[in-house]
Amino acid sequence: MQTLAVVVPAYNESDGLREFQRRLGLVFDALDLDCHVLYVDDGSRDDTWEVMESLRSADSRVATLKLSRNFGKELALTAGIDHVDADAVVVIDADLQDQPELIPEFIRRWREGFDVVYGTRSNRAGETALKKFTSAAFYRVMERMSDLPVPRDTGDFRLMSRRVVDALKLLRERQRFMKGLFTWVGFRQIAIMYDRDPRFAGDSKWNYWKLWNFALEGITSFSSFPLRVATYIGFMAALAAFLFGLVVLAKALFFGDPVRGYPSLMVVVLFLGGAQLMALGMIGEYLGRTYVESKQRPLYFVDRHHLPAKTGAT
Ligand code: UDP
Ligand code: MG
Repeated sequence: MQTLAVVVPAYNESDGLREFQRRLGLVFDALDLDCHVLYVDDGSRDDTWEVMESLRSADSRVATLKLSRNFGKELALTAGIDHVDADAVVVIDADLQDQPELIPEFIRRWREGFDVVYGTRSNRAGETALKKFTSAAFYRVMERMSDLPVPRDTGDFRLMSRRVVDALKLLRERQRFMKGLFTWVGFRQIAIMYDRDPRFAGDSKWNYWKLWNFALEGITSFSSFPLRVATYIGFMAALAAFLFGLVVLAKALFFGDPVRGYPSLMVVVLFLGGAQLMALGMIGEYLGRTYVESKQRPLYFVDRHHLPAKTGAT
């Protein structure tokens, strides 16, 4: 029989996990696949791990993995994907915003021959207008700046075939923007529209500062356009300075201009100073990432795990 693995990253999700497992279990029961779920505890500070363990003792289809600390969702997902071995792998959030009931639909498309089936949100209930706006803005900027068309309004909720998972496992970069990586590997991909539910329990782990950094991660991982901005600004400033220089020279030669122009001088100095610092900052963003990458640290450490003795490999 073909195998399905569901990877669920969770950070302080103990309140919702039982309900999640109940709904996922019902989905598993109806599937003609050998299913299991891998819960990844991303260094939670509540009793998420204990809940996971009790779910595991109640259901043999449950596997668990605990990271040595909180590494963030991207790395928790990576750890989960690294530890499963199945013909199809689904990644889904633990908070029930993405419905497990969509998995059979994903599987239907996968059996039609698609390698990646991803959920695109047609409506995001329970999220503020500001969050919707910033999220929409991000996808559009990303689309403009990078050569990689990251699908809009698409989270991590998706199904991947074995060869896509194998490809993903080869990407060991430390700065991980999973949505970008999922797209980057290619293969046949298809979107499924769905309505996102509000969170079942607990709070979103995101705030705007985190989201901003996440957006920077996305842009710097997949586009070097910001590095070129300085070149263009510099070129335009030089051209303008040259023309303006001619005007100043002509005025001095023909009209004997007395010393004036303090305001314009200040404007030019401040503008150029600002532009230079910004350009340096952009270079810094990339340099810092190159630095982290060059240290070649492992992506994460596993504290404990309980994986099925034999998974997949039919
Ligand atoms: N998550 C995680 N590590 C973190 C933050 C979040 O594993 O450091 C998990 C979280 O438990 C949830 C998923 O990632 O299953 C999505 O998180 P959240 O619901 O906070 O994000 P949102 O849906 O608001 O984008
Ligand atoms: Mg959520």
